[in-house]
Amino acid sequence: MENLTNIDCLVIGAHPDDAELCVGGTIAKLTKEGRSVVLVDCTRGEMGTRGNPELREIEAQNAAKILGVALRINLDMKDGFIEHNYENLYKIVSVIRRFRPKIILTHPWFERHPDHEAVHKLFRDSLFKSGLKKFETTFEGKIQEVYRTRRIYCYNQAYQFPKLPDFFVDISDVHDLKIDAIKAFSSQVFVPGQYENEPPTRLASPEFMEELYARARYFGGLIGAKYAEAFLTLEPLGVSSVSKFLFEK
Ligand SMILES: [Zn+2]
Repeated sequence: MENLTNIDCLVIGAHPDDAELCVGGTIAKLTKEGRSVVLVDCTRGEMGTRGNPELREIEAQNAAKILGVALRINLDMKDGFIEHNYENLYKIVSVIRRFRPKIILTHPWFERHPDHEAVHKLFRDSLFKSGLKKFETTFEGKIQEVYRTRRIYCYNQAYQFPKLPDFFVDISDVHDLKIDAIKAFSSQVFVPGQYENEPPTRLASPEFMEELYARARYFGGLIGAKYAEAFLTLEPLGVSSVSKFLFEK
């Protein structure tokens, strides 16, 4: 396996499929540009109406392959009941210190699903504690070095952001890959002819898939692209070179 310390991007989501639904395009874009991406799912989605944890793990690994990510891991927190406790903080601090990512993508603080908000809060607390030497964690028997990053970007999901997005990523050239990765979760989303006898959910309706297209198209339109994903940055964004940031679309 490639060396997975000092990776480019860590994506933290509450449930398997959050990463693909919200930032599948950005992930595909990063990996196409040679960036290393690791996905972290906090729960196995065992409270989900459709499918089961074993099936969702297979689907999650298939989706990760489609997007070209280096590794996908699961933190085994309790779906539907993510607690802000020492055990869960330890898990996320340990992950941050293990991969030492340059940027982190995660849920915003204002979201419909309580687990999404819980993960945001847990992550914020963990990121701060990850910089504290006296919060000691070990991985594979070794004490981990402290680590923090300021580049934390929140992705858009069920709710509108409480303010205008800070930036958008043009995903037009990888939108098909994003949809393929989402369809890998065929027990959860609408894929004609698959799991049609499972109980209906909003996620599994054809309309939900249309919403995904519509939102990406709307965000794309705002920046003169076909499809885009929107982000909020937690800390002010600074750039050391304006050439790429301001001159390229
Ligand atoms: Zn979720």
